Amino acid sequence: MVTIGLTIRNSTVRQVGNFRAEAQLDMGPLLEARGYTVRIYDEQGTSGKDLSKRKVALQMLEDLRQGDIQGIGAYDVKRLTRDEFGIDGGTIARRIVEAGGLFVTKDREYDLRNEDDLLQFQFQCFIAGIDWRNVRNTFWSGLFKKMENEPVYMRPPIGYMTEKIDPPAGSTRRVIKRVAKNPEQAGLMAELERLFDESESLSAMARYLNTHGPARPAFRGRGGTTSHWSVQSLRYLLKNGIYSGTFTFGERLKKRSTVWHKFATDADGKPKDFRQHVPELAYWTSAQVRRWRLKFETGKTRTMDTRYPHPLSGVIECISCGQAMVARGPKHYACSALGTLRGRKSVHCAHPQSISPNVASALMRQELPRAMYDARRMAAEFRKQQQAYVASPAAQRLAFLEERVQYINDQLLSMQQLPPKSLVVRLAEAEAELVQLRDQVTEETIAAKDDALLADMCEVLAERPMQAFDALPWEAQQRIYKLLFAAVRIETEGAGFNRRWRLAQYRALIGGEVRVLNDAPWARRAHPHLQDLVFEIGTNSGKTMSGTRYIVPATQLRELAAAFGG
Ligand SMILES: [Zn+2]
Repeated sequence: MVTIGLTIRNSTVRQVGNFRAEAQLDMGPLLEARGYTVRIYDEQGTSGKDLSKRKVALQMLEDLRQGDIQGIGAYDVKRLTRDEFGIDGGTIARRIVEAGGLFVTKDREYDLRNEDDLLQFQFQCFIAGIDWRNVRNTFWSGLFKKMENEPVYMRPPIGYMTEKIDPPAGSTRRVIKRVAKNPEQAGLMAELERLFDESESLSAMARYLNTHGPARPAFRGRGGTTSHWSVQSLRYLLKNGIYSGTFTFGERLKKRSTVWHKFATDADGKPKDFRQHVPELAYWTSAQVRRWRLKFETGKTRTMDTRYPHPLSGVIECISCGQAMVARGPKHYACSALGTLRGRKSVHCAHPQSISPNVASALMRQELPRAMYDARRMAAEFRKQQQAYVASPAAQRLAFLEERVQYINDQLLSMQQLPPKSLVVRLAEAEAELVQLRDQVTEETIAAKDDALLADMCEVLAERPMQAFDALPWEAQQRIYKLLFAAVRIETEGAGFNRRWRLAQYRALIGGEVRVLNDAPWARRAHPHLQDLVFEIGTNSGKTMSGTRYIVPATQLRELAAAFGG
């Protein structure tokens, strides 16, 4: 009976949990099924970089020399050695050769006395030693280089495909890949053109397409494969310039990944954008697309009466009774008790307050930068986290399990005899876990995508909050006020032309404190007939918010960023 020493090793400590080791353990029953006896050498948590420090591996080689085992097994060559220079691989190979033994991986068996097998094995060791980062960098630099000359898609959008052109005979070049119109989707693109012209709305168009066809070309999205049309999928067609002959990449990206910084930065450090005119890839004219965009995008936010801007509705309270003030005609916020001294729910108010929206907005705008300061600090923190985002443990495990189930299945299929029971049990367990993980990863991916959008908005928030704020329509300003402030109370003094106002207190929604402003500056009108306010000296002192450590849920910040996004 031939005994194979099976090495179990995680290639790095960072690999989540021990799941790599599980796959390596699958090797046990597989080797047994192939007729070997297995002895496990567990060296988890040991780096594979230096053989002289791997006690378990050295013991295994010693056992091999003594003839206790007749070969060495590993999930793949990577698990055997990570030595960059391939020296350890050579050492191990020599020991196996000297012992006249076998080397067995999940894919194949090497008889290292055989010249060809030895060469293969050494080559594999060499590959395993190359840092994966090099591989990744080569991939990205090539991609960006290509993008300077022609459109590049990992996944070509609807209507397009990646054309593979064989290099000329005798050429050393590899297969050339190029984006091209997909002739099989020509009919679909024509139908889309007709529907963009004739449909009332994108949702009506999606409904029509889903009932009458043509089906959306199967699309592997986050929720699995779909051929269902959605409003987003149609809007994407209108947004993507490729359909009118302009390929762009990066233009709208505010936040760029580290890869981007490395490969898509000009000599003077400015980020590169990629843009090519490719009329041969256009399906429609830009005039057509503009017309459709206009048609489908108007009326999107027309749900509110915009005649009288009242961005502080629901945010300010009557200073006398504490009830929310509501818009009252174009010129006022007023306590609901105004006129009757009895407000909503019959609450009595001795001095119902009434304030002009201009005055209230001027006072609040004065306070906004301070409230924003805290939001900005968090935005910066959030962006840092966002940049550090890596594939989650669940995603890593999912990728691993998919590969593993595939592999076990392949093995089961190729087996001549009944599969070992332990392997079947493991397969079932892995598949059950797979289902659950897919859902989790789908959710995570959606969240990550949202976070990426948020990070973009945070940039605006951190850099120019007031400019961004002033440029917004009042409905969006109202959203921001509502996210930052509650229970705003404004103090009024004097009458007629001598009337003056100041911010008395508010509740900061980020940080959750009540701020009583005991020295806020008073403001009076610049001129009796003008709306502009002049602020008198004051410090807005009061219970200060800065210096407090807030734990603000990302959802709150997400809302704020979205509000700034308009
Ligand atoms: Zn009142």
